[in-house]
Amino acid sequence: MNVSDKSHVEMLVQIARLLATLDLDDVLWQTINLTTQTVGAARGTFFLLDEHGETLQRFIAAQNYDPETRQIVSRRILEQGLAGWVMAHQQSALIDDTATDPRWVVLDAEKELLRVRSVLCVPFFVEGELRGVMTLEHPQPRHFTPEHLRLVEAAAHQAAASLRNAQLFDRVQAQQRQLQAVLDGISEGLLVLDTELCVRLVNPAALRLFGVTEATVLGFNLEVLAEQLANPFYARLAEGVKAAIQDAANNRFEVRDNLTKRDFVVNVANVSAKRAAEGGIVIALNDVSSLKDLTRLKTHMIQMASHDLKNPIGVLRNYLDVIRAEVKGGVLPDPMFLENMYKSLARMESLVVNLLDIQRAEDAEPLKREPFDPYDLINASLEDMMPSARMHNQTVVQNIQPNLRPIKGDFDRLREVINNLIDNAVKYTPQGGTISISAYAEDERFTFSVKDTGYGIPADQQAAIFQPYFRATQASTAHISGTGVGLSLVKEVIERHGGQVWFISKEGQGSTFGFWLPILT
Ligand code: ADP
Repeated sequence: MNVSDKSHVEMLVQIARLLATLDLDDVLWQTINLTTQTVGAARGTFFLLDEHGETLQRFIAAQNYDPETRQIVSRRILEQGLAGWVMAHQQSALIDDTATDPRWVVLDAEKELLRVRSVLCVPFFVEGELRGVMTLEHPQPRHFTPEHLRLVEAAAHQAAASLRNAQLFDRVQAQQRQLQAVLDGISEGLLVLDTELCVRLVNPAALRLFGVTEATVLGFNLEVLAEQLANPFYARLAEGVKAAIQDAANNRFEVRDNLTKRDFVVNVANVSAKRAAEGGIVIALNDVSSLKDLTRLKTHMIQMASHDLKNPIGVLRNYLDVIRAEVKGGVLPDPMFLENMYKSLARMESLVVNLLDIQRAEDAEPLKREPFDPYDLINASLEDMMPSARMHNQTVVQNIQPNLRPIKGDFDRLREVINNLIDNAVKYTPQGGTISISAYAEDERFTFSVKDTGYGIPADQQAAIFQPYFRATQASTAHISGTGVGLSLVKEVIERHGGQVWFISKEGQGSTFGFWLPILT
């Protein structure tokens, strides 16, 4: 075996090793480089066809063309040049001298780089289908021999299997990327479970909705997750999925995550497979919390209204009966009776106001955008709320910046906002406390806040404070009645004005609730 034979065998061995390479670029580059080196070519080029043998998928040249030139070069060579000829005839070509062979197209860009005189061009077949063409070039005429041609054909034959593997892998990867993009893009939560109900895939929306990370759920069975995350929601999900699998007509169910306070409509699709181990269950979770919130809110309000209105109405009726009898008998009514009647009436009033507010929020009544003096707003609100603070023996401190500029917005809705905040401060502060009101303008923002010395809100309940009908549960405020609606309305009105609400609170020490609005001119 002479030196050249040895290097030929070595090349074929190395090309055979490419079978283990799944990267398409790698396979192509190494095939070009190995063959170019072995036959002493100056340059190698590869045209790769897609799996249908049609569109050009890749063009690799040892030469560094810019992408535009590369496209022009490819098209011309394929239409008029040697690679096109080899593709059309599905057979190799050996050109001893390009000067005398019309199949060789001379390109402008090429002239400067390499004057090609001899060429070797072989087709690549994968399972009998043409998949590409490799061209090897040299500046001297008659550089390549028929032996070179056979060798490169053998290399092409060897490399074809690696090419097919890499192409398949490429396609699988592309599909995976597509799938990933779809999964990432959809707003519904999506889980893929295996037949054992272990989470095999979870999309970002699902992670967001569940408030978990991929590592906490991936690979775990739903029932195990219920225990691990101490959240029975996953067990209920598993139950629903099992029922859905057993009865295809039942592939939709509702489930609530009490931890995140989200309601889901779940659709289950059972993906059957030839082998049980490959089967899977796709579940799509649609977050319907806001719809549910609204329905729950309505139900809650109706229950509240019927219950809480019945009580004060009864009280009023009883007192009125007594007073009527007394007045008939010429006796003046007891002032305590009147005071209690007044309190009952106030409770009814606040309930009715809340009901109306909810209705209005639902109707999304458009906001007015009228300029007004912020002092008028604060004074109107104080007028509304002062009697209640006085009844609680609370001191109201005002800290209002002078010369505030007019602001634009819906005066009446903002008055309700401030009323709600002051009302809460009064309600959630024991007798004798202090309510401090501040207002100032800075950086084109009007800021208003109410600070109280009241019960405060437990830290673990603060996150939910603006949610509709949420009420903090703590012993100190258990006696205070409310609907849990006020703050959600405050937030909505302020945000619709382009502003933001905020609060700070410490249990047992007090709270400050505030908002800012953009000063519109
Ligand atoms: P409501 O007062 O009718 O219950 P809100 O929506 O106004 O409803 O308030 C929601 C909850 O926030 C209240 O139930 C209470 O637990 C808490 N909260 C609001 N304002 C204060 C405050 N100033 N101090 C302490 N807790 C407050």
